[in-house]
Amino acid sequence: MTALADHRDGPRDECGVFGVYAPGEPDVARLTYFALYALQHRGQESAGIATAPLGGPLMAIREQGLVSQVFDEHMLRSLIGDLAIGHVRYSTTGSSHWENTQPIVRDDNLTLALAHNGNLINAVELHSEMLGEDVPFRSTSDSEIIAALLANCGAEDIEQAVAQVMPRLHGAFSTVVMTEDRVVAFRDPHGLRPLSVGVIESPDSAPVYCVASESCAFDLLGARYLRDVEPGEMVILDASGLRSRMVAPGQRRAFCVFEYIYFARPDSRMGGQRLQTARGRMGEILWREAPVDADVVIAIPDSGNAAARGLARAAGLRQDDGFIKNRYVARTFIQPGQQLRKNGLRLKFNPLPEVVEGQRLIVVDDSIVRGNTMPQIVKMLRDAGAAEVHLRISSPPIKNPCFYGIDMSTREEMVAHNRSVEDIAKLLDADSLHYLSLDGVYEAVSAGDAAVGGRESHCDACFSGDYPLVGSSSATDKFALERTELPVLQ
Ligand code: SF4
Repeated sequence: MTALADHRDGPRDECGVFGVYAPGEPDVARLTYFALYALQHRGQESAGIATAPLGGPLMAIREQGLVSQVFDEHMLRSLIGDLAIGHVRYSTTGSSHWENTQPIVRDDNLTLALAHNGNLINAVELHSEMLGEDVPFRSTSDSEIIAALLANCGAEDIEQAVAQVMPRLHGAFSTVVMTEDRVVAFRDPHGLRPLSVGVIESPDSAPVYCVASESCAFDLLGARYLRDVEPGEMVILDASGLRSRMVAPGQRRAFCVFEYIYFARPDSRMGGQRLQTARGRMGEILWREAPVDADVVIAIPDSGNAAARGLARAAGLRQDDGFIKNRYVARTFIQPGQQLRKNGLRLKFNPLPEVVEGQRLIVVDDSIVRGNTMPQIVKMLRDAGAAEVHLRISSPPIKNPCFYGIDMSTREEMVAHNRSVEDIAKLLDADSLHYLSLDGVYEAVSAGDAAVGGRESHCDACFSGDYPLVGSSSATDKFALERTELPVLQ
């Protein structure tokens, strides 16, 4: 990532996966393309699609870049078949180069294509175990370890392979695998990353089942959200329709609470509720926890939009667009010159003096990781004439790295590491600063629905330091795996 692409001082997104079994559907690659388009926010480094006619062969196209950059009409037409999986990627374990793009295709004892969202915390151990077994690796990603284990475990089919391999995997894995006759999707026993099942219904044909990281992918395809894949469950999409098999039941649930705050798209549903609504509630609770005399509420677009609306609603304050966002600066490799670099953030955000001048502002964003850009944002607002700048953040302070598929920086790089909220406010040059409490997050997320659960069924380790699962040896513990680059077997 470049300085410009890194304009947002937040955690970096992870990956998005999709799978569909649709014999009779004329264009499974196109279905997958549009699903990936909807999931683009989960990863912008690479995109890939694998397809197969029933009985094979598997074919795949994967490349670095956005979905719209990787695929053109000609490529989509070449990807024929009855079933397909797709992937968008932001690298966590394994660096960013072509070999680490997905879907990964393995042609060993089993032939399969695999797309994975998450991060194995025992990747180094598993990799060591496979050393000497003469299994070639082409990438440095933990996802290929899963693919290699499945393809080489000696199982007769993919369902048996998943049942055999899943107990050996520790960490976060929402995974979609395609063979020549079925698509299977399985989710780690803690359910760290999301994975949902949808169905495309038509009066004239059999239902078409699909799986996706988020329900927003279903909306684009005209599919109906059916349910989440349960932690420890494998769902199978094949000639019998949709089947389910519980492979690794009975572990503590630990769904990533940050999905509700930031990662997932606001129009997705998780835990049975629309995230836009949950984020609005976070803004309402932020106001209840830390009211302040102010004139206008503005959001850091787009990450703070929903919480800013909720806060303004609860406060009875006017909400306005304090910043205009240039939506076309998402990714560039052209570095600004010295003069432009000073104003680099303005390439992305430009404050509106008519909105902020002379005003006491409440500025809402979803999170602060390193705190590199927030001082520039505050300065831009003050330069535009803001009378006061009160920061309200719809998550607790981030103090710990994530080992389950999100790039959060190291502990020492985090602005909240060893600093009080007052110290951070001074550092950011804010008149006041308040982070939403963890209790406030769970109140907003559950909204009184006991089925969603609280801390006992979520992961909040980046805020609390309470990791729901850790590695089993010094080689794989939660600190040693930070920034691990897996060696490639020769
Ligand atoms: S550590 Fe944070 S980002 Fe990572 S899974 Fe847990 S809540 Fe999500």
